[in-house]
Amino acid sequence: EEAGEEDAGPQKEVTVAIIKPDAVQAGHVEDIIQRVKDAGFEILAQEERMLTEEEAREFYSHKADEEFFDELVAFMASGPSHVLVLSKGDDAGAEVIDEWRKIIGPFDSTVAKEEAPDSLRAQYGTDKSMNALHGSDSHEMATRELAFFFPNFQIPKSEAKPAEKRLQRT
Ligand code: GDP
Ligand code: MG
Repeated sequence: EEAGEEDAGPQKEVTVAIIKPDAVQAGHVEDIIQRVKDAGFEILAQEERMLTEEEAREFYSHKADEEFFDELVAFMASGPSHVLVLSKGDDAGAEVIDEWRKIIGPFDSTVAKEEAPDSLRAQYGTDKSMNALHGSDSHEMATRELAFFFPNFQIPKSEAKPAEKRLQRT
């Protein structure tokens, strides 16, 4: 850990969301961004990004042994995506990663339509390949994915007020 990090307070928990090429192509970006905001997420960064096949292979390198890997890489490189960095309010301990995973729903959009009809993958995805959205699945993956897309991104500190500041107001 860097010197001074403790004094400056904890960083916000963040997650990386991707509006995948199928949803961008279908014109759903604005509706999805509205759903993100309605659910109380803060958008700390947003970028339209056309992944090369090489970048898609790197992003999903942990899936390289899956039989669907080539199809996944071709899909992710098939058109522009929108990459978002999300956090939630001023609570450094917010379960932003799990909350976003819950809102997007099961990875297979046909299952999502049955089991979680309000989820984003139910509403904007097609099947288990073209499922419209990505969400980091752990703190470690969020950190890796953030560095992949936004190498210079500084995660904001939690806005929770230190005790002295509260006392000064009285
Ligand atoms: P996620 O973490 O919910 O996105 O799901 P996974 O980690 O299991 O898979 C990563 C991504 O690979 C999914 O979001 C899908 O786009 C894709 N994928 C997963 N399973 C399959 C499959 O069986 N076939 C195909 N073509 N793509 C898949
Ligand atoms: Mg996964």
